[in-house]
Amino acid sequence: MTSEASSQEGGSMCEEQTISLVDVLEEDEELEEEASAVLAGSDSDHCSYPLGYVKRQALYACNTCTPKGGEAAGVCLACSYKCHEGHELFELYTKRNFRCDCGNRKFSDLQCKLQPDKDDVNSLNKYSHNFFGVYCTCRRPYPDPDDQVEDEMIQCVVCEDWLHSRHLGCMVPDCVELQEMICEACMKTSPVLWEYAAHLAAAGPEEPKGEGPGAEAIPEKTENKEESVTKPSCKRSREEGEPCCRLKELQAGGQKRVQSGAVFWPSGWRSKLCSCAPCQLMLSEAGLSFLLDETDTVLEYENKGKSREREQPGTDPLMSALDNLSRVQQLEIIHGYNDMKTELKDFLQRFAAEGKVGQKPDFVSSLFLFFLSVFSSSSFKQVRSWLHSLVYSQGRQPFFF
Ligand SMILES: [Zn+2]
Ligand SMILES: [Zn+2]
Ligand SMILES: [Zn+2]
Ligand SMILES: [Zn+2]
Ligand SMILES: [Zn+2]
Ligand SMILES: [Zn+2]
Repeated sequence: MTSEASSQEGGSMCEEQTISLVDVLEEDEELEEEASAVLAGSDSDHCSYPLGYVKRQALYACNTCTPKGGEAAGVCLACSYKCHEGHELFELYTKRNFRCDCGNRKFSDLQCKLQPDKDDVNSLNKYSHNFFGVYCTCRRPYPDPDDQVEDEMIQCVVCEDWLHSRHLGCMVPDCVELQEMICEACMKTSPVLWEYAAHLAAAGPEEPKGEGPGAEAIPEKTENKEESVTKPSCKRSREEGEPCCRLKELQAGGQKRVQSGAVFWPSGWRSKLCSCAPCQLMLSEAGLSFLLDETDTVLEYENKGKSREREQPGTDPLMSALDNLSRVQQLEIIHGYNDMKTELKDFLQRFAAEGKVGQKPDFVSSLFLFFLSVFSSSSFKQVRSWLHSLVYSQGRQPFFF
């Protein structure tokens, strides 16, 4: 509605639709906060290698330096900018416990410009087909030029692969509270997860009529495991006056679940997992210790980035505009935005000093276009003059101021 008014040559601005540039600058802060959420703890200037295996960071794979057929390698955010500029990069979003490989033995020619002194390999890094630019059980690139189906991709919190929602083997719940997904393959490697799923997760598929081989066979296995591992501990911890094993308590509830398809978990589900010593050992042996760490989640990572700049959550005009872009494009734009933020603020402050008012939605869209132009032309001066001409276009009727 407000965009209509703005197209009327500025003359008919009504007061409810206008905001002061103080508001604009506040909005700028909100945009900044959203930008932080995407890049969060990842440093765009310094190679993360000295930090070791970083708990979670934005990660890239370079198809130019380490193409398919060779060894997989991953590089940090800063290296993606400084050492692999102009290369074909795969945006891996964030991954846990990874140490930057840039310039190590896996790179035959390239030397890291930021941290050239690296061990030959990072033996604890885990690699997947994602590092060669393919995702999901169908092993397709993203975006996929041959895929006409509009489908979202969801990251498994265990293997951290991205899966098409149509390849999850389950219905994707509408509920936004269901924030974490574990893919079927990961579920099947850890029977204890099915135990938890029966009690904590979103409803699974319907019990198949007539036969349910999966549902029959696997619970038996988990019960065996529980007998041997969980039960003794329960006694021990009682003797020590500690609460009994929570897994054991859940199992006493006796709920079962069809063991197929991916599983969606409600927010806070990790806090409901039992962390008694035997359960910790069991999760550790399954390589799932991180599930006991609520700060391991991507959400936590993003929130950390947001709170780093400000405490209160803002609206997301930039993010919604960015939704239509790939992750690589998003990060490029946001990164560039951070770089020239100060420049932009100075520019806006000058208008603020003149007490001009503008229309918020137009400002947001103008600002977005502004970002786009910044990254298609690297000259700030050019962008400034572009912005000036935007402001004073249409016979000096301000477009958004
Ligand atoms: Zn690096
Ligand atoms: Zn490269
Ligand atoms: Zn590097
Ligand atoms: Zn797929
Ligand atoms: Zn998985
Ligand atoms: Zn336990």
